[in-house]
Amino acid sequence: MALIVQKYGGTSVGSTDRIKNVAARVARSRTAGDQVVVVVSAMSGVTDNLIKLAKDLMPLPNEREMDVLLATGEQTTIALTAIALHSLDVPAVSMTGAQAGIVTDGVHTKAKIQNITPRRVHELLDAGNVVIVAGFQGQTIEGQITTLGRGGSDLTAIALTAALKADLCQIFTDVDGVYTADPRIVRDAKKLEEISYDEMLELASLGAKVMQSRSVEFAKKFGVVFEVRSSLNDNPGTIVKEETKTMEGIVVRGVSLDKNQAKVTLVAVPDKPGVAARIFKAIGDAAINVDMIVQNIGHGATDTVGATDLSFTVDKPDLTKAQKVIDGLKHELGFHQVIANDKIGKLSIVGVGMKSHTGVAGKMFETLAKEGVNIHMISTSEIKISVIIDLAKGEQASRAVHAAFLG
Ligand code: ADP
Ligand code: ASP
Ligand code: MG
Repeated sequence: MALIVQKYGGTSVGSTDRIKNVAARVARSRTAGDQVVVVVSAMSGVTDNLIKLAKDLMPLPNEREMDVLLATGEQTTIALTAIALHSLDVPAVSMTGAQAGIVTDGVHTKAKIQNITPRRVHELLDAGNVVIVAGFQGQTIEGQITTLGRGGSDLTAIALTAALKADLCQIFTDVDGVYTADPRIVRDAKKLEEISYDEMLELASLGAKVMQSRSVEFAKKFGVVFEVRSSLNDNPGTIVKEETKTMEGIVVRGVSLDKNQAKVTLVAVPDKPGVAARIFKAIGDAAINVDMIVQNIGHGATDTVGATDLSFTVDKPDLTKAQKVIDGLKHELGFHQVIANDKIGKLSIVGVGMKSHTGVAGKMFETLAKEGVNIHMISTSEIKISVIIDLAKGEQASRAVHAAFLG
């Protein structure tokens, strides 16, 4: 008898018919003699809709209240999934994140899991139940409802797998696995049989929303091997695990496009020590993640000599908050102007094989040049190259870069 954690994402539970399909799949695993813990997301569109409702009321809603609101999405699905299992005569009990023992810190809307005490989950499993846990949510030790950042049900599933010492973790979604690029953008993207944690982590944090990046980070840290596969067929999926020697032979494993970034530029920031520290301390204090940072001393126009233009990127939903923080520093720092641009995309190529190959950046930039795509910012690491480009050219550029490296 194995203990399996199965996670079903928003599309996979997007209607009562889809929930019936999930119940049937879970029932099958259970008939095979396995214990099953099911983690579900909110029905597709529900979380976006709740956010929209709150933003109709005010642009920057209180984050504690956002968590109370957003947690309702998953709470609906756990109950419906339990009811669907009952209709098949399968004993099943739903649990909120808090009831499942998921304790987080108090950073509302992007809380981190601190520990999981799944005693009650074990008890219910041992009594013969399927246990259905609400993804994406937890509770602080003080009892405040929290959520784990967008896509956070993946994290719930992986963290529960580790805490329960489960034998298997399956992430069921609406594609057959992890592809060399988003199959909805690049039609000839290929499904990967396996991928290393590091590559999956880069792809995920660079916009491949098939896995939440924090969940992959967690899986790597605790050695949780997991499979990404479809809830709509029985095709084998993609195994995500520690890097093996053979993986290094491939230079580029995948291409990703992040449409969820925005760029903030501070024009003519005085060039003196401590300025960057001041800016990014304030941004950090507001719990805003900064990704790329580019700074350059202006040598051109006389009024900008001794001043620098400083650009950085943040997640699009944090743009209003970032602008507010930066506006608050204008008087103190004395820069000229802030420009915000949310019409950008980040295109990246990822592969552990890049460590041992040269000429990869040149080939990527040449491909973009041929497509007439202008590059705003560049950043690289050992296993990835990312560029910020105009959003309007993002998909075309993805296809061209995919064809150049993986076609
Ligand atoms: P779920 O609701 O199951 O969590 P998501 O919508 O979060 O599913 O993630 C699945 C989607 O991720 C797919 O529909 C696909 O369009 C997108 N995606 C982006 N990049 C990739 C990739 N490299 N491989 C597979 N899917 C990808
Ligand atoms: N419902 C949440 C979201 O849409 C969490 C998840 O689906 O994983 O982000
Ligand atoms: Mg998801």
